[in-house]
Amino acid sequence: MRPSVLQVYASDPARSRGRRHAEPPAPTRDDFQRDRDRIVHSTAFRRLVYKTQVFLNHEGDLFRTRLTHSLEVAQLGRSIARALALNEDLVEAIALAHDLGHTPFGHAGQDALDECARRADSVEGGFEHNLQSLRVVDELEERYPAYDGLNLTFETREGILKHCSRRHAQQLCEREPGGVGQRFLDRTQPSLEAQLCNIADEVAYNAHDIDDGVRSNLLTLEQLDEVALFAVHARAACTEYPGLGGRRLLFESVRRMLSAQVYDVIEATAVSLREHRPASADAARRLPPLVGFTEPVARSGVELKRFLRDNLYRHPQVVETTERAKSVIRDLFDAYVAQPAQMQAGFSARVDRVRAVTDYIAGMTDRFALKEHQRLTGRTLF
Ligand code: MG
Repeated sequence: MRPSVLQVYASDPARSRGRRHAEPPAPTRDDFQRDRDRIVHSTAFRRLVYKTQVFLNHEGDLFRTRLTHSLEVAQLGRSIARALALNEDLVEAIALAHDLGHTPFGHAGQDALDECARRADSVEGGFEHNLQSLRVVDELEERYPAYDGLNLTFETREGILKHCSRRHAQQLCEREPGGVGQRFLDRTQPSLEAQLCNIADEVAYNAHDIDDGVRSNLLTLEQLDEVALFAVHARAACTEYPGLGGRRLLFESVRRMLSAQVYDVIEATAVSLREHRPASADAARRLPPLVGFTEPVARSGVELKRFLRDNLYRHPQVVETTERAKSVIRDLFDAYVAQPAQMQAGFSARVDRVRAVTDYIAGMTDRFALKEHQRLTGRTLF
């Protein structure tokens, strides 16, 4: 149940820094609820269902996609926000939008697109998915007669822009003085709700990548015995249910691991909030990051991430598919730069050709990218 009163440091829609284009308030929804609804109805959100998280979309029906990942982040984020009396609706809006800028084929796609954009010397230099998520909601969605993008509130956009280089922040501030790029120049924090989404993202992918890793047979439960954060819960589950094994042991251990991290974040964050007592949402932005794990859980999280990197993300089978995915992106990029007319009309007509090609490819689903690749090169890579 939602606490009836949010904390003073929670983001309050009534005190939002507003939208880039002023709009009258909605009769039944506050501004953060409205942001969430706009995100759910966007085209980019629906594309997430066919975008890779770690496993390529066609490798299996049960693996996470960007969409199910985003829903899991929203669920975890809301649970934590509710317990801390932070703004659940803002957390949900940020969580659902946080991966909108991801390319097809996951990180492999992003790396390949970044290389291509840099090689082509685009004005803004390369491709970065956080910045692209902001571009999607600020510029690329075409749903409203009066403006480009979804015209979201500052607070949701601030949360979407999780990372930003100094150079990109300066470029953003030229277009929007004092806007969402400013904190990267001032080295301040985003809202507590945005900080919370970053943690929920991490909790979600650590857990579901273990699940998907075992499901794909690239990871085994025996290997996971080396990872403290997982092993402690697997052992506790086996003590409570002697003889437990296989899938149920996996699910039970992941479930316990998730809960333990969520409770840890709630407790550790409550402690730092009590210690720092921010008097408002803005005061919290000027403090050190306040949402986080206790030190031991943070440390075991780092160990788990290292394990996943070495054993799953760099597994020869994953690397092999990602190499093929990268060449799909490179081929598409070269093809569209050479022949912009091969893109959909809105993109082919743009004068900033490299940027248009980058936006076009970034927006593709895995399936559409493969279809286009086959059409333009006559080759089938998967
Ligand atoms: Mg994510």
